Amino acid sequence: MTIPTLGTYTGRKLVTDLQSFGLQLGDDTSGIGRKGGAGPSDHKTITIAGHTVMVPVYTSGARHSPFQASPPDQSGASTLLRDGQRLGTIHFPAAPRFYGRSTADGIPYWKIALLHGRDTLATTVHQTCIRYADRRTSCQFCAIGQSLEAGRTIAYKTPAQLAEVAKAAVELDGVRDMVLTTGTPNVIDRGAAVLAESAAPSSSDRPAITGAVRTSARPQLVRAPA
Ligand code: SF4
Repeated sequence: MTIPTLGTYTGRKLVTDLQSFGLQLGDDTSGIGRKGGAGPSDHKTITIAGHTVMVPVYTSGARHSPFQASPPDQSGASTLLRDGQRLGTIHFPAAPRFYGRSTADGIPYWKIALLHGRDTLATTVHQTCIRYADRRTSCQFCAIGQSLEAGRTIAYKTPAQLAEVAKAAVELDGVRDMVLTTGTPNVIDRGAAVLAESAAPSSSDRPAITGAVRTSARPQLVRAPA
């Protein structure tokens, strides 16, 4: 059996099953994956039949998934199995090249923004939230504080830092889009101002991410917990 084309029913079902059951990894694979936290945590990017998708790998369900991937070779190629039967070859992308860079003051770029999927850069501008402090009333699905506690990101990304990382991600890794999100820094604008500042055009005295990438600044508008 070979991996079906994703435009077919069986191809779509394969991806749906992978995203539902998850994927057991024979060994850890390239790139930065995170067990818990905000962003692409618990998932890895794989390319299957020419399409790039995210599949869960660190969830409890994934540990019992019928799908298994062999350790990738140097090109990222891996064998996908279901119930021990070989389905075909999938690919794990190599770690983005911009992950190897740091700012002048020593902050690794991957702590400022991460690659999502194949060509989208994403960041949480404010990694803190006034609602997260009380886990009894904060959004129960949210894990914004875990990445910060684990030292995998920084609390606030300045517009200059975002511009620097976006430029490198575009030049080194072909990034095309950027998603900005934020925790809720206040109840006045709930983060809209900080996102607007981050996505503002460049001026004579400050660089900007605009011009390097298409930007989708997404204020998280949530109803205040009671
Ligand atoms: S408002 Fe946003 S960042 Fe804050 S706890 Fe809810 S989902 Fe998390």
